[in-house]
Amino acid sequence: MAPLWSVHVLTLFPGMFPGPLGQSLAGRALADGLWSLNCVDIREYATDKHRTVDDTPFGGGPGMVMRPDVMMAALDAVMTKADQVKAKSCRKIYFSPRGRRLDQAMVRDLAATDQVIMVCGRYEGLDQRVIDHAGLEEVSVGDVVLSGGELPALMTMDAVVRLLPGVMGNAAAHQDDSFENGLLEHPLYTQPREWQGMAVPEILISGDHGKIAAWRKQESEAITQARRPDLWAEYMKASGKKTDG
Ligand code: SAH
Repeated sequence: MAPLWSVHVLTLFPGMFPGPLGQSLAGRALADGLWSLNCVDIREYATDKHRTVDDTPFGGGPGMVMRPDVMMAALDAVMTKADQVKAKSCRKIYFSPRGRRLDQAMVRDLAATDQVIMVCGRYEGLDQRVIDHAGLEEVSVGDVVLSGGELPALMTMDAVVRLLPGVMGNAAAHQDDSFENGLLEHPLYTQPREWQGMAVPEILISGDHGKIAAWRKQESEAITQARRPDLWAEYMKASGKKTDG
């Protein structure tokens, strides 16, 4: 059976993959062939005897910039491979702090794609021309600067893989997750019923599923409103209510 989702990752540190994704649910799904990971070492596409992949920035400034020619050679090789597997619906992502912020909607879109190419930057980043020429989509994982795109790639893969059918035991497990309905998740409780003098909310042991659902929704709404005014405004707009008052 062909994998449900294939990812090709271009990196200077292939040893970082699958890393944490070789464990737990994602690791089992990888071993079972539900998704596939093709890791490409960018350095193999360098042409000089020192295998140079970067150089100093034109215009001056600190650090090094990844060369466009080396990266394009690596991308061409990967795109040929992607074409051989399936020509359509292949997204090409370059992880960058300047990109569109990754969110659950983007993750769902990626999970619906056959293949994704992920480019991991290092040093100061990638020469602009290869971003433009290859039509790379820039994606950020938050307003922080990391030392490379490998962790963002792993993070994105993890988020996608857990959505693939058959990866998580219970398909309904996603329904209440934060962001699935525009809200943060309600609080969770398990055994023991009483701990450190704190009891589990009575309603959760009432057995009344209608009341439990209503309570959870109310808690979700309250926590979203308190913590994430941005999500709350979107949610209110979508449900046709006014945010003020
Ligand atoms: N000079 C760049 C930062 C380079 S960090 C700037 O100021 O925007 C080196 C590499 O790490 C980047 O090329 C990118 O691939 C990755 N990276 C760092 N922070 C990231 C983030 N928040 N989201 C996605 N990728 C990031």
